Amino acid sequence: MTVDVLVVGAGITGIYQLYRAREAGFSVHLLEAGGGVGGTWFWNRYPGARFDSESYTYGYLFSQELFDEWEWQEHFAGQPEIERYLNHVVDRFDLRRHITFDAPVTAAVWDEPSATWRVEAGDEVVHRARFLIAATGVLSVPYTPEIPGRDDFRGVQHHTGRWPAEPVDFTGKRVAVVGTSSSGVQVVPTILDDVASVTAYQRTANWCTPLNNRPITSEEQAELRAGFADLCETLNTSLSGFAHPVNERAAFDDSESERRVLFEALWNSPGFMKLTSNYYDLLFNEAANDEWCAFIADKIRGIVHDPATAERLIPRDHRFGAKRPPFVNGYFEAFNDPKVSLVDLRETPIVRLTETGIETTDGEREFDVVVWATGFDFGTGALNRMGIRGRDGLALTDHWADGPSTFLGLQTRGFPNFFFPGGPHAAAGNNPRYNGDLVDIVTDLLVHATRNGADVIEVTAESEERWTRMVDKGAAVTSFGTIGQYVGSNIPGKPRRYLLNTGGRLKLFEIRADVVANDYEAFEMSTSSERAGEPA
Ligand SMILES: Cc1cc2nc3c(=O)[nH]c(=O)nc-3n(C[C@H](O)[C@H](O)[C@H](O)COP(=O)(O)OP(=O)(O)OC[C@H]3O[C@@H](n4cnc5c(N)ncnc54)[C@H](O)[C@@H]3O)c2cc1C
Repeated sequence: MTVDVLVVGAGITGIYQLYRAREAGFSVHLLEAGGGVGGTWFWNRYPGARFDSESYTYGYLFSQELFDEWEWQEHFAGQPEIERYLNHVVDRFDLRRHITFDAPVTAAVWDEPSATWRVEAGDEVVHRARFLIAATGVLSVPYTPEIPGRDDFRGVQHHTGRWPAEPVDFTGKRVAVVGTSSSGVQVVPTILDDVASVTAYQRTANWCTPLNNRPITSEEQAELRAGFADLCETLNTSLSGFAHPVNERAAFDDSESERRVLFEALWNSPGFMKLTSNYYDLLFNEAANDEWCAFIADKIRGIVHDPATAERLIPRDHRFGAKRPPFVNGYFEAFNDPKVSLVDLRETPIVRLTETGIETTDGEREFDVVVWATGFDFGTGALNRMGIRGRDGLALTDHWADGPSTFLGLQTRGFPNFFFPGGPHAAAGNNPRYNGDLVDIVTDLLVHATRNGADVIEVTAESEERWTRMVDKGAAVTSFGTIGQYVGSNIPGKPRRYLLNTGGRLKLFEIRADVVANDYEAFEMSTSSERAGEPA
């Protein structure tokens, strides 16, 4: 198949990219490794999987009709509802006919003479495209640690990020949940009623706080519809991509009792408000962060009856925000159930899996089911597995051997006409909002180039260097995401580089305005006649 634009990945980003490219008049096709649409929400079907972003702030905003006709059931929708929504969008806008499923891209090679990408997917099907856009996600390659004996285990084992479509039966089962980050802490309380026992294997305790989910009432549904224009305005300008009010006070502008009142309100607030509406200096004033952490630690002590378990559940090695904070529903309470126990892997590391269970330095426990909630190869995982080769056969894996360099987290030099909206260096809050910005930038760029007769687009070295330097400099001063997957430290051998956008959406807005005002000077563009040396 030969198209103008080939999109890879049918998650929320790829679907929007497909829609925008088609509306802009390009011939477009999408290749998806999985058997359906949804990306994250196709693969992560584990019990308890749900949004940490408010449903209506995560969904698309490009069509008021779509917004009006889809009634989210809960403020934080669960995986089944999200997957239904994304399928609805694909059918509503007649996008499914442009998608090939079960088509993992294994090679994508830049062909200089024709200035096209040659792409192999699945059963060696070859596609040609002028522009290749990888919307392959930052959390789409699950990571399972290399633990001896994993294949010996005779029970059932699944990674949360590759959960099977058919339900896993937990009834009366002895279950191990390995990993207590965002996914593991959702699984534990959700399966509790069914199981004989749950053992949570914790390497790092996390600063979990309540999600505070609830159904959306019919009055709220009506308010949401009536407020669509305002919501768009808020979300399209919000630096976090959330609709939460920003707190303009620093922690020590307030007295201790005033701080206590705010912290209590935040504890009872929905999802990410604990970060986005907290004191503005939370992430760069350690004393402020320590106060918030001490507040959460007291909450944990107040919930968990066994003092030793409570202390193990309180993080000791990082402050709030240094790892992505999980949001929970009954996680700490679960440890008051005699069926639930905690194994601290710092005290007793896993030695191996046996045929019947998990052996730590403290001995073996037997299980019927092992749930691997051990995270992802964040940021670069999917892109580095696509077999991408740019100019002169340069492999992306070699180009990024020491970590990625990008412009806006969407293009890297040496790989013309290749874009990856929402890739490494892009993440800045509520995902669909900044990823949507990036899809818009890419689409507008393709339209601009095409109107000007250009068919090759490549970011300038200077633009890429500037953005990458900004990310690295920001990484030295922020305390957000400085350990774990955002710096690659959860994957053995992965270069330790900061993988988020440290300038946030503010920087993205600034550069987007600058790029457009300067006639897309951040990119080199050429026409085929220029390349052939013909007079213009
Ligand atoms: C459990 C979980 C909960 C989350 N909750 C939130 C939340 O509440 N709020 C938030 O903002 N973010 C959340 N995230 C982050 C989430 O990844 C993004 O919100 C969003 O789903 C990213 O969309 P995407 O389309 O960019 O990538 P994805 O949804 O990851 O989709 C990428 C797609 O590309 C496909 N793909 C990858 N490589 C190839 C290849 N070589 N060939 C073909 N296809 C390929 C994958 O199969 C996948 O379907 C969550 C992530 C997880 C794992």
